[in-house]
Amino acid sequence: MIAGLCCSEAVVLRSYPLRESDLITVLYTRSFGRINGVARGAQRSKSRFAGKLEPLSLAEVVFFARKSSDLVSIDSVDLIESFAQRTHDYRGLMQLSFLAELLADTTPEREPSDAVFRLLLLVLPHLTQPATADLAQLYFEVWYLKLAGLYPSHRHCHRCHGSLANSTDVFVGANLSLFVCQECQGSGAYRISAAALEMLDAIGRLHLSEICRRVSAVAVIAELRQIAEALLQRSFERSFHSLKLIHQEV
Ligand SMILES: [Zn+2]
Repeated sequence: MIAGLCCSEAVVLRSYPLRESDLITVLYTRSFGRINGVARGAQRSKSRFAGKLEPLSLAEVVFFARKSSDLVSIDSVDLIESFAQRTHDYRGLMQLSFLAELLADTTPEREPSDAVFRLLLLVLPHLTQPATADLAQLYFEVWYLKLAGLYPSHRHCHRCHGSLANSTDVFVGANLSLFVCQECQGSGAYRISAAALEMLDAIGRLHLSEICRRVSAVAVIAELRQIAEALLQRSFERSFHSLKLIHQEV
C-alpha cells in the first residue's frame, strides 16, 4: 500500500476528463506500477499540467496517495519526453496507442515491474521511427509475454517436450498450439520460417538497437507479429482496439 507524497518516473497511458476542469490519468510508474490519478484543473488552458499528460509522455510525477482511495492526487508533472510528438505518421501513433492500451488493460494495479518499465523505455524511441517501429513493436510483444510468463519456448515441443534446439521444423499447431514438432503438428498446423526462428533467438539474446542494425525482412516481422499478437489476445482474453486499427492501415 502506498501512502503519502510519492515521486516516480512514469509513462502516461491514458487521460480523460472528469467534471469541468479535472483530468483522470492512468500512469505506468517505475516505482509503483500502474496507478490512476486525478490532476485538478488540468483542463484549464493555464493549468500547470497543460500539455504534460498526453498519452505516451515520459515524465517525473509527484503525487499524493491516501490509504482510503484508489485514486492518487497528482501534484506536479515534469515532462521528460513526449513520444507522440516525435511521431509523425498515423501508423506510428497507433503503434504507440497499442502499447498504452496493452499496459493500461493488462498490468496489475500498483504492482511495479522494473523490467516492464525498462522494456517500455527501450522500445518507445524506436516506435517513433517508421524504419524500426514494426520491429520495436514485435520486440515489446515478445518480451512482454516473456515477462508475464506467457511465452512458450520455441526451442521445445509443447506437446512431447522434445528439443527443437537445432531444428528448422518448428510448427504452430491448430488453435495456436505453440510450438510443436513435425510429429506433433496435427492438422491445420503451419511451419515457422527459419528466418523467423532466427529472429526469435535474436530477440531473446540481443539488445533491440543491435537487432535494428541488422537487415530484417518485413515479412519475417509480420509473420512473428501475427503469432505474438494472437497469443497476447488469447492470453489476456481481449481484442485490442488499436491493434485492429494498425492492421486496417496495412
Ligand atoms: Zn512434439
